[in-house]
Amino acid sequence: MTLAQTNPRGDGGDLLHRLWLYTNYDCNLSCSYCVAESFVGAERNGLALPQVCRLIDEAVMLGMTELFLTGGEPFILHDIFTMLHYGLERMQVTVLSNGILLKGKRLGQLEALPHRERLTVQISLDGSNAATHDVYRGAGSWQKAIDAIVRLKAAGFHVRLGTTQTPENSQDLAAMCRLHRALGIPDEDHIIRPLVRRGFSAKGMAISLPALEPEVTVNRDGVYWHPVATAPDLLISPRLFPLREAVEQINEIRESLLMVTGGASSRFR
Ligand code: SF4
Repeated sequence: MTLAQTNPRGDGGDLLHRLWLYTNYDCNLSCSYCVAESFVGAERNGLALPQVCRLIDEAVMLGMTELFLTGGEPFILHDIFTMLHYGLERMQVTVLSNGILLKGKRLGQLEALPHRERLTVQISLDGSNAATHDVYRGAGSWQKAIDAIVRLKAAGFHVRLGTTQTPENSQDLAAMCRLHRALGIPDEDHIIRPLVRRGFSAKGMAISLPALEPEVTVNRDGVYWHPVATAPDLLISPRLFPLREAVEQINEIRESLLMVTGGASSRFR
């Protein structure tokens, strides 16, 4: 998935009002650059529904306002709609997806959620044509992503596009912007992040903890500094609960880094 760069509202320069949850690691695609190391048939390694609900409750208690659900492909999970329902009653929610499963019964379940005005569905799209998208994501995946975007827009959802900038699509970004505008998605709902050398990707930008503006990120194994990767070098705590402990640790590290670097604006967000 491509990460999100959203909500400039009142965050005072930090992004600690966000909670990212890696709901699962299995996927219906096997993208060659996947930072989550997800693929078809990967171990699920998911958060259980009670853990997700407790994390949301604790995040709200800590004053967090935005929830991001990512994977893997979250819509593989039977519980995802219950997770979304629970989150939407308490926070702004973004769910990251390749979009392929969002049709038929699943689309109906998505439409039935409460507080749809708080929901953003972020679809990964890497090109204006199949060649630039499918080179990393597999043959046929571009058309399926486009079909998903059209279905979601027709159903009235707030759709954001997440693009991973790669050597293959760098010359295609202007055409891609014409395409998303034609699909009814404005410029502010198109985010572009560089390919990073993490997970399965041997190419791209190398990034480490000091270069990343922290966003609290949780998988079943612990709490991490940033959603770009749930890797050991970004692990803050192996304890999920209480979430406050890991958030306090993140704050302490952030403050000490700020004293060295002099500001968050130089960091990757
Ligand atoms: S769709 Fe997203 S999570 Fe699935 S393999 Fe591709 S990049 Fe990874």
